[in-house]
Amino acid sequence: MDIASDAHSSSWRTTHYIDGAWAASAGRTFPSFNPFDSSVFAEVSAGGRAEAEAAVAAANAAFPAWAAMLPRDRQRLFFKAADIIEVRTDALVSLLARETGTGNAFARFQLRWASDLLRQAGGWGYRPVGEVLRSDTPDRFAMATRKPLGVVAGFSPWNGAFSLAWRTVVLPMAFGNTVVLKPSEEAPISAGLVLAEIFEEAGLPAGVLNVVTHAAGEAGPIADVFFESPAVRSINFTGSSKTGRMLAERAGRALKRIVLELGGYNPTVVLDDADLDHAVDATVFGSFFHQGQICMNTRKIIVERPIYDDFLRKMIARTNSLIKGDPTDSKTVIGPLINATAMDAVKRTVGEAVSKGATVLAGGTFDGPIYHPTILAGVPQDATIATEETFGPVVIIEAADSAEEALERALATRYGLCASLMTGNRNRGLNLAQKFDCGMIHVNGPSMVGEPALPNGGVKDSGWGRSGYYAIEDFTEIRLTTLTNERGLYPV
Ligand code: NAD
Repeated sequence: MDIASDAHSSSWRTTHYIDGAWAASAGRTFPSFNPFDSSVFAEVSAGGRAEAEAAVAAANAAFPAWAAMLPRDRQRLFFKAADIIEVRTDALVSLLARETGTGNAFARFQLRWASDLLRQAGGWGYRPVGEVLRSDTPDRFAMATRKPLGVVAGFSPWNGAFSLAWRTVVLPMAFGNTVVLKPSEEAPISAGLVLAEIFEEAGLPAGVLNVVTHAAGEAGPIADVFFESPAVRSINFTGSSKTGRMLAERAGRALKRIVLELGGYNPTVVLDDADLDHAVDATVFGSFFHQGQICMNTRKIIVERPIYDDFLRKMIARTNSLIKGDPTDSKTVIGPLINATAMDAVKRTVGEAVSKGATVLAGGTFDGPIYHPTILAGVPQDATIATEETFGPVVIIEAADSAEEALERALATRYGLCASLMTGNRNRGLNLAQKFDCGMIHVNGPSMVGEPALPNGGVKDSGWGRSGYYAIEDFTEIRLTTLTNERGLYPV
């Protein structure tokens, strides 16, 4: 089958990619829906245990040669894949819109992010792989070198489908591991199969990346294989804290490493000396980009009381002006939620907050698959949305009487992914930033900052593990090698 270069072609690969070959699984398929018009975007292979076992075996067989590949050759492959992403930009933007409801700006951001990551990771093979150590034994040479782990099993989500899938596979591959990728059932092509298409064209050896797709509710048997197989040395998971916790428990029993990039409840604090217009721009973007379906979206805004009314007036006006509609239209800012379950969850949590006394200041309504960007005030602490991530375009806003009170409220969460702080005093901003208990804190910017070279990741219920070159900690292990030249004085 040809790879689609036409933006509206439907000839994307739809079958598993195992050991360098495209294979259907006994004819069983499942529909991947277009979230905007509910049409079936593609019928995709529904895999299970057998496909996962074959994929793990292929990845295991490919591991020694991939681990030993010269930095030059691996770099060439990664650069070629980055070039292919750029050549296919329009088709990939269209794919993301139609399979996942992703708008033009976020789709292009993801493509750029992925090709940048590939080019950066292409150079990692030239970095030092270890250290020579001092020993207390005379004439003993000791060194610690980093070795790849083996097969890494990746779980990619649907929301930042393209960029996060590349993150899931490139970080382990760059350090010499081979990968079996299980994309979300909501984005089997954008978060899975299309990566195999691109890498195949770039010339990736068979078995280095394998992709197994599955129908809704059928991730279990594939995950079972990952945990049971001795060849799988690490799980690389991006998704909800609920699923991550369950997988971490299993990883503990199986004594496998696991990287967890999980959910968040991300505050933005606006101090009374902040640049008001900048603060409004940053929070509107932070709250509503991609319909609030990004782990780093702002969920709560806490504003110092002297500027609260002005901030609110401007924020409501900006929020109401966001263009809603079809994600294939480049002017659209707010597109559809991923599916009806997501829509029900947003309606339910907003309804619950309102029934407990919250006030809707903007939005609070929907139009087909589009939930309007929503601002809630007066949300009581016992409402779900006061403490839990609602994966949609809804943000809550509160006034605080001091910076200390604002920070205290921002810190009152079991999550620790990211946060932001808006202030006109940079020194104060950097000092206050150190008080946040999260993986990423941004002074004078939105809660959402994503660059492939920067360490993305959380603490507490938002998980652990860091992206960028920092991922060397997660996807390599240290080997101690010693050489002793003299006969030692052994005690026996
Ligand atoms: P999810 O946890 O429902 O699914 C994530 C992955 O886990 C998917 O591949 C899914 O198929 C798989 N999965 C689900 N149930 C499973 C099971 N029982 N056994 C094995 N696998 C299973 O999450 P989602 O709704 O797809 O993604 C949204 C969530 O991900 C949000 O909470 C968001 O904050 C989080 N997220 C975090 C980051 C980050 O970098 N920290 C990035 C994107 C998304």
